[in-house]
Amino acid sequence: TPLSLIRNFSIIAHIDHGKSTLADRLIQTCGGLTEREMTNQVLDNMDIERERGITIKAQTVRLSYPAKDGKTYVLNLMDTPGHVDFAYEVSRSLAACEGSLLVVDASQGVEAQTLANVYQAIDAHHEIVPVLNKIDLPAAEPEQVRQQIEEVVGIPADDAIEISAKTGLNIIGVLEALVTRLPPPVGDADAPLQALLVDSWYDAYLGVIILVRVKNGRLKRHSKIRMMSNGATHTVEQVGVFSPAMRPLDDLGPGEIGYINAAIKTVADCNIGDTITDDRRPASQALPGFKASIPVVWCGLFPIDADDFEKLRESLGKLRLNDASFHFEAETSAALGFGYRCGFLGLLHLEIIQERLTREFNLDLIATAPSVVYRIHRTNGTEEELHNPADMPDGSLIESIEEPWIRATIMVPDEYLGPVLTLCNDRRGRQVDLTYVGTRAMAVYRLPLNEVVFDFYDRLKSVSRGYASFDYAMDGYEESDLVRISILVNLEPVDALSFIAHRSAAETRGRSICGKLKDLIPRQLFKIAIQAAIGGRVIARETIGALSKDVTAKCYGGDISRKRKLLDKQKEGKKRMRQFGKVEIPQTAFLAALKMD
Ligand code: GDP
Ligand code: MG
Repeated sequence: TPLSLIRNFSIIAHIDHGKSTLADRLIQTCGGLTEREMTNQVLDNMDIERERGITIKAQTVRLSYPAKDGKTYVLNLMDTPGHVDFAYEVSRSLAACEGSLLVVDASQGVEAQTLANVYQAIDAHHEIVPVLNKIDLPAAEPEQVRQQIEEVVGIPADDAIEISAKTGLNIIGVLEALVTRLPPPVGDADAPLQALLVDSWYDAYLGVIILVRVKNGRLKRHSKIRMMSNGATHTVEQVGVFSPAMRPLDDLGPGEIGYINAAIKTVADCNIGDTITDDRRPASQALPGFKASIPVVWCGLFPIDADDFEKLRESLGKLRLNDASFHFEAETSAALGFGYRCGFLGLLHLEIIQERLTREFNLDLIATAPSVVYRIHRTNGTEEELHNPADMPDGSLIESIEEPWIRATIMVPDEYLGPVLTLCNDRRGRQVDLTYVGTRAMAVYRLPLNEVVFDFYDRLKSVSRGYASFDYAMDGYEESDLVRISILVNLEPVDALSFIAHRSAAETRGRSICGKLKDLIPRQLFKIAIQAAIGGRVIARETIGALSKDVTAKCYGGDISRKRKLLDKQKEGKKRMRQFGKVEIPQTAFLAALKMD
């Protein structure tokens, strides 16, 4: 395809503003699929993505559009994830395109994620076409939203396109804008091959599939390619495009987006952002890559049944095949046995991986409290990164500790601003900026990430009745007065429950966990003491009184089926119990203990 007939674009939007619905409409209009194949949103193809209505992995599809100018264009659509945890995946999708459709729900207006995405698109030098969606809704206020886009986002919105992705209204308007307003890609077909490695994943039949954007040269079937970062060479077995099903071709030229498959064993050998070149006629320079993703939240995952350890290892390995941003390493806990310390891009990423392990791999797991990555400066002059509270050195060995901060943007209707500011202040936040967009406030805060992983999203949603939108970016490290709080059950430390907090919050959180455990640990035949301590100093304590009677005693001689039910229930509960000395702690106690209120 000549470059002048190619358009590469992403769709960026705040979650729920209609990105996937629009993508489906574009695919349908361009005739990629039958009505029946369209019944489910095509691009969100993982179960969890569909259920939660979010996109995790960027997907791509090649469309063929006969435009009003009489020419048929190739439109490559790269879907982007809409959640803040996956901002990194957004940036690499954008790197493969020349333009973006900025979808804004005309009944909601600009939200935090709209801004975050649009700034990334501007950084990627994209031409941006604003699209006002959900124009069919009575609450739609396209004129106001137009103004908002100009004022807040700072891009012209006069020729924003009004559509309804749901009813299909003016989808042609979007397609025409792509053709007339986005620049075609540039590149030289005769130059040495330079292709950007955008993404890779594992396919059970084909092995590793690599998503590429060719910048210069041609990427041909059967040719020998070289990864410029490490010099590894592979023979290309298949080249093709997603339309949206995989369609093999002979080659991909400049400006084209497609896949290759080259008998590569693991995605770990495919560095996202790497440049692929021809081994016989290599390019002299790699393309500008993009920053690697680093996990910012860590937690321990332990099998409830110790026999599942091998299965856990295999399952984590399989997940990692498709998700290079997910990290894991072996960990041993005195309380929980053998497990893995796992690193994630954020809390949602953590939740998704945990859910997949439970659902797809049938694993029963205990997860420890999420921790951020601290920097410890020891008195002996050495420095280390710490992402497991259990590994925190003794206080006497520590010179200072630094913690990661974020810069958060929160957009919220005026009437909920008060409680939102209170929440940020309670979490040690520092206000950077506060401005108004009509009746909506936009607050910019610096916050310690440590305070955000403790249920900040949930609190924000609840104090704003769900109206606040939130986005953040990492914003450096700062020294802080942090302590490790240990939780002891009958004087035995439960390493999995220890956590790091700012000294000012230590007592409140310690007390809250002890109080929760008191309610969650079933009474036993003896008294149980629950304590929170910093070093040797106890800062909170609770006592669970002893149990006097056997639980099943009252069932003896009674209704036999009721008794069996009770025993079954206990058996079910057993699986989810962990033994601490003489004390059994149900898994629910761990999970609940990690939530704060
Ligand atoms: P995404 O999170 O940006 O991918 O949003 P979705 O495409 O999943 O859409 C979120 C919700 O908005 C879904 O319930 C859609 O049916 C609905 N929706 C999308 N576009 C429109 C539209 O044009 N009009 C109306 N009324 N609803 C829409
Ligand atoms: Mg979606």
